[in-house]
Amino acid sequence: MKKFAVLAAAVALAGAAVAARVDVYAQSFRAGGWKLDVQFMDQMGSPYLIAHGLGSPVPDATADVALPERGEWRVWVRTREWVKGAGAFRVLVDGEPLRPTFGAGDAAWGWVDGGVVSASNRHVRVTLRDLDGFDARCAGVTFTRGEGETPPEGAINVTDREPSKTRSFDFVVVGGGVPGCCAAVAAARAGVKTALVQDRPVLGGNASGEIRVWCAGEMRYPLVAEMRSNFMNMLYENAFSDADRLAKLQREPNLTVFLSHRVFGVDMKNAKTIGAVRALDLENNRVAAFAAPLFCDATGDGWVGFWAGADWRYGREASGEYGETYAPKTADKMTLGASVMWESHVSTYDSPFSAPWAEPYACGQSRVNGDWNWEYGLDRDMFKEGEAIRDRLLLAIYGAFSNAKKDPANRHRRLVTCPFLLGKRESRRLMGDWVYSEKDVTEHRQFEDAVATGSWSIDLHYTITNAVPFLTRCEQPMHGRYWIPYRSIYSRNVGNLFMAGRCFSCTHVGLGGPRVINTLSQLGCAAGEAAAMCLESGLTPRGLFEKGKVRELQRRLGGDFPGNPDPATLDWAYADDEDGATVFAGSWSRHMLHNGGQCGDWTHSVELPVKGVCTATYKLPVKTPGRHKLMGRVPHLFNEVHAPVAALTVASGGKTTTLDWDQYTQSGWWREIGEFDLAPGATLTIDAAKSSGKYLYADGFAVVPVKNAQAAEPSHD
Ligand SMILES: Cc1cc2nc3c(=O)[nH]c(=O)nc-3n(C[C@H](O)[C@H](O)[C@H](O)COP(=O)(O)OP(=O)(O)OC[C@H]3O[C@@H](n4cnc5c(N)ncnc54)[C@H](O)[C@@H]3O)c2cc1C
Repeated sequence: MKKFAVLAAAVALAGAAVAARVDVYAQSFRAGGWKLDVQFMDQMGSPYLIAHGLGSPVPDATADVALPERGEWRVWVRTREWVKGAGAFRVLVDGEPLRPTFGAGDAAWGWVDGGVVSASNRHVRVTLRDLDGFDARCAGVTFTRGEGETPPEGAINVTDREPSKTRSFDFVVVGGGVPGCCAAVAAARAGVKTALVQDRPVLGGNASGEIRVWCAGEMRYPLVAEMRSNFMNMLYENAFSDADRLAKLQREPNLTVFLSHRVFGVDMKNAKTIGAVRALDLENNRVAAFAAPLFCDATGDGWVGFWAGADWRYGREASGEYGETYAPKTADKMTLGASVMWESHVSTYDSPFSAPWAEPYACGQSRVNGDWNWEYGLDRDMFKEGEAIRDRLLLAIYGAFSNAKKDPANRHRRLVTCPFLLGKRESRRLMGDWVYSEKDVTEHRQFEDAVATGSWSIDLHYTITNAVPFLTRCEQPMHGRYWIPYRSIYSRNVGNLFMAGRCFSCTHVGLGGPRVINTLSQLGCAAGEAAAMCLESGLTPRGLFEKGKVRELQRRLGGDFPGNPDPATLDWAYADDEDGATVFAGSWSRHMLHNGGQCGDWTHSVELPVKGVCTATYKLPVKTPGRHKLMGRVPHLFNEVHAPVAALTVASGGKTTTLDWDQYTQSGWWREIGEFDLAPGATLTIDAAKSSGKYLYADGFAVVPVKNAQAAEPSHD
């Protein structure tokens, strides 16, 4: 909490004894209703405050400034005009507004002369007053006096200072998306003293309540289920996931979480070894350093690797490079685009919203909601043009909503979700010893060093038309289940760097499937566990592979791997909805292979309640008569669609048992349904007409002879 004073370096300018400068950093303000935006810091030089009020002016940001002396000071404000017609703000010094209206003028970031104030006191208060709630931005205020009275060159920042403190850990994870959280927790639970450094005040990255992306894909490891968010795209009431995730991490004794710390550089021990990462502590406006023998880049953008000199790629590979049929003939700089997913709600009162200046950017769209396909920047540079990409999306949204609000039917509609944070799908990918590509998916390569599985389609996006440049389409060819090798999660030329998340080693097409959050989070689990093994053995990430330690890594991760079956499931026998022996009666729908796993695809009933016959009857693969555990699995989607009461009938040797199974809370994992005396020929029937909820799911069942069934339940999804 910035209670008082803060600020500011008083700088006696060299060679000009009478000149002085006092800088007031954006991160030194008490933000009020403004938000601190650090996304584009590496592009425009510093954090900045943004008045993201969705059309309602936000409460003031204030800072108390200690000037070296009273008297006349010139005030400079670093800002820009992001669009003509909106984004204006005033700056007040001790309650007196400076003459200019800021945010109107130059489109480029720069210092605007606010005129001279007369400070009767050494302590003055600076106030930023938003005028329209439409994303005014201020990257700091500077007071100057004396000869020249020039503002700073470029942005003001403290990142050129030496760290005020260096903290030492065994493993430092940078980036707190779900993959980064998994890496940090996996290592911490393996006994590693770990730091997780995250630039936002919440964890979760794209899956956080700030951006609201649904966590899809195979979970495989229980830790992924613990760390993921449990909501559908954009769902409004999702704050619980963030709070819950943070609380879980803070309870880990070996883990320290550093929120609101933006990592901006590295200290190299030598050309191939990172010694520490440097972060801007946004709460205290200090530089902090985090030293460790091992690091994990989970920033999505591959920042740590980039600063450390790791090999990286950006854009699409040529089809010939990796034999990819979905790649273009010639390599280019196209990526998947970035999005701002937005939504309006109907309130009980009139809710005015008008943004005529944005309407031309809506390209004729008149909408009250947007989804994943409000996507832009596929052919633009996610780094150099990041702010412009975000702003283009905001303009499209404000314009389309402004158009929709002209319809009286929408007069109670209020824009509720529209993050200022850009949801990125792809940017830099760091290169490892294996570059994961299309053929690994389509040929289902059985990597002996597999550490993760996926089954999401190769999900690539394309612009539809230049006439509406912010709407895209996707192609999602499905290729079943695939494996991702350990060699894709460490850098090939920075010796102590792991990757977790979308910056893992892959091609553009190779990223298409694994890029869903649950699958990327498996990479996090593997990186964390591997870090623990490196520290125990004194091996590097690559050394672990070269010394044949990946089998041991797989054992520690749990579950089945190519050539390394899960000992806990050796005597399981499976019955599946798609194995040909299962008989469906009534109306059922096959579904995509997104949440695959041992039992791959799945089937679901028509929406419940169902009248008439709607059953699926499985032939249970019982080899010898006796006591068996019956295990069941349904895919994990979002719980709301599953049946809390799924009616089951087990029939064997003339005896039938009926019972209810809860698919609502039991989805995603193999669950024990009960113990039964079963003989060859036993069947299991699930009956939609007797079930309740939204849909009844038919996926996989397994029988396990009880004498061998004491082993733990397997950890695959
Ligand atoms: C609109 C949209 C829809 C999508 N739909 C789906 C979907 O339906 N299901 C699905 O599973 N996936 C979906 N994806 C893909 C998925 O969100 C990403 O692939 C995934 O979130 C990548 O995870 P990550 O941890 O690598 O990156 P992120 O989730 O972005 O997490 C990275 C974290 O690192 C932090 N960070 C970055 N730089 C620094 C730094 N320098 N210092 C400190 N911290 C830093 C960021 O703030 C962020 O919190 C979608 C993506 C988008 C944008």
